[in-house]
Amino acid sequence: MFDYHVHTLFSEDSTASMESQCEAAIARGIRQIAFTEHEDYNPKDPTSFYFKHADYMAELQRCRALFAGRLIIRAGIEVSEPHRFPDLCDPVLAAYEWDFVLGSLHWLSKDVNTYWPEFFEHTGDWRRSMQLYFEEAVRLVETGDFDVLAHIDYPTRYNRELIVGEYDIRDFESEVREILRAVVACGKGIEINTNPMRSGRQPNPADAVIHWYREMGGEILTIGTDSHTPSHTGLHMPEAVQIARAAGFTHLATFERRNLTLVPIE
Ligand SMILES: [Zn+2]
Ligand SMILES: [Zn+2]
Repeated sequence: MFDYHVHTLFSEDSTASMESQCEAAIARGIRQIAFTEHEDYNPKDPTSFYFKHADYMAELQRCRALFAGRLIIRAGIEVSEPHRFPDLCDPVLAAYEWDFVLGSLHWLSKDVNTYWPEFFEHTGDWRRSMQLYFEEAVRLVETGDFDVLAHIDYPTRYNRELIVGEYDIRDFESEVREILRAVVACGKGIEINTNPMRSGRQPNPADAVIHWYREMGGEILTIGTDSHTPSHTGLHMPEAVQIARAAGFTHLATFERRNLTLVPIE
């Protein structure tokens, strides 16, 4: 089991030490962990320019030595909208030995954060807002520099009271398949983000999408908890592995220095 989406205090929205996250991962049977800290450039985002890369790399080296033989630790980064900020993002990706880069769409545009109620409200129709999100995700995949697309239907985690009726990602099949087509064509991957499973919901994205992805030739799949605190690290991993297996995946993706290795699911 590999947790490929974990935050520590190097992200603005976490207070967890890297060491405590490593201990939690080992306790839950995780063998490989990627610390994917927030890298944001949108001037309105509180996390923008918060991530101190050199300090992170030093702490990562310390933890690698401390947990040697028990846990493989990957140097990751979760870049928000890398397609909009290549001039800022490219030098960061070139300056350090990153193992794994997650690409995320947290801001629909420079003014609309998908975490805010405004995201659903600004179009007057939450379904329209989701369509715009999925369309922007295609642009992100086609032009952003990253390895795996994070949490495909991320905005549905928040402000659920503004979703009128049921949210079912299958209602957006054509939009989501456009994203998956771009992911496969660009040699990138997607993740099963287990964060919503902690609230009894389907992961981001739900199992139907993992099936579509496999059907369309998708091979690069990671699983991540998006944990910001040790009590969430490694949670719901067995269920997520089961979703991958049921969709026809026999391997999960791992990355070292941004090179892909597919590891058989045991
Ligand atoms: Zn994210
Ligand atoms: Zn995250």
